[in-house]
Amino acid sequence: MKKIQMVDLQSQYQKIKDVVNTSIEEVLNSSAYINGPYVKEFQADLEKYLDVKHVIPCANGTDALQIAMMGLGLKPGDEVITVDFTFAATVEVIGLLQLTPILVDVEIDTFNINIEALRKAITPKTKAIVPVHLFGQCANMEAILEVAKEHNLFVIEDNAQAIGANYTFADGTVKKAGTIGHVGTTSFFPSKNLGCYGDGGAIFTNDDELAHTLRGIVNHGMYKRYYHDVVGVNSRLDSIQAAILKAKLPNLDNYCEARRKAAEFYSNAFKNNENIVTPVISAFTTHVFHQYTLRITNGKRNELHQHLLDNNIPNAIYYPVPLHAQKAYKDERYNEDNFKVTNQLIDEVISLPMHTELDTEQLEFISQTVLNFLN
Ligand SMILES: *Cc1c(COP(=O)(O)O)cnc(C)c1O
Repeated sequence: MKKIQMVDLQSQYQKIKDVVNTSIEEVLNSSAYINGPYVKEFQADLEKYLDVKHVIPCANGTDALQIAMMGLGLKPGDEVITVDFTFAATVEVIGLLQLTPILVDVEIDTFNINIEALRKAITPKTKAIVPVHLFGQCANMEAILEVAKEHNLFVIEDNAQAIGANYTFADGTVKKAGTIGHVGTTSFFPSKNLGCYGDGGAIFTNDDELAHTLRGIVNHGMYKRYYHDVVGVNSRLDSIQAAILKAKLPNLDNYCEARRKAAEFYSNAFKNNENIVTPVISAFTTHVFHQYTLRITNGKRNELHQHLLDNNIPNAIYYPVPLHAQKAYKDERYNEDNFKVTNQLIDEVISLPMHTELDTEQLEFISQTVLNFLN
């Protein structure tokens, strides 16, 4: 059996090696390393794939969030609501910009933002909501947009984990994750569903004016060379990464499908075990399984984690500490009663190997090893 990895980027690369290598060589021969033609071409390809008016490439997914918040004109003291259960980048940039992060609880089944908790967290100072499409499926965007409209709030989708997922509105309209709110962000970190071979990110919007503002901010606040109209940052997607992403984008739907198939295999294997809760998929979204995350309900999650490691099966706890309990983000206003679900999830969740190259032999071995331990 091929060695099991949490993410197998090497095997994936072997299948697209020719086109990727040729593209990289073209960049090297052109020596247009920054803002070369590949950046524009990838931008246009992604706009088409997402059916969104503007893609603004940038250096990484964390910058994408920060630049989105800068572009919306959020000011120190403005409250920004996001989830307690996500990767820290989401709340980090809120802190960096001296905005006030307001963390709320998530749903026990989808791990995404709880709409009741969101409603309760709104104050006169609230300016924006940042739903995170965690592990590969969309948060309840229709409800979020409704709350945002009622209270005149911006919606910034953190779509680092769900690029390629579809969201279906009650009226049947289908949109790509990340293109539903005022602005969406993503990451091309190597292990993400559309990953480059270094750091990369992008911002999406259908708002022409906001897109213009964002394009200046990513480039030192310049709208005309050496004229700095606003305080910006230096956050670019380099040409080599753009070339790799352009080569990989045509495979994204197949990659999502391979992940879905692996998830289906796992969920079938685990469906009759009463100690395992398999991922629940909301009716309004497809799931692209950035992670395949189980809840282990008999209190043996940590033992399972060790048992899998003993059998050379990598696995991970995403996330072991909720953000409200992290040293950097503690706030005396937080009340533990408001984080019942995240406090439960940190003890129950475990993510199994999930990538585009898992074969049946590996999936069988992983599932059997889990079941042998929990039966
Ligand atoms: C990966 C990730 C980010 C940050 O992306 P980087 O490219 O690593 O900066 C932000 N939010 C979420 C939810 C992520 O998973």
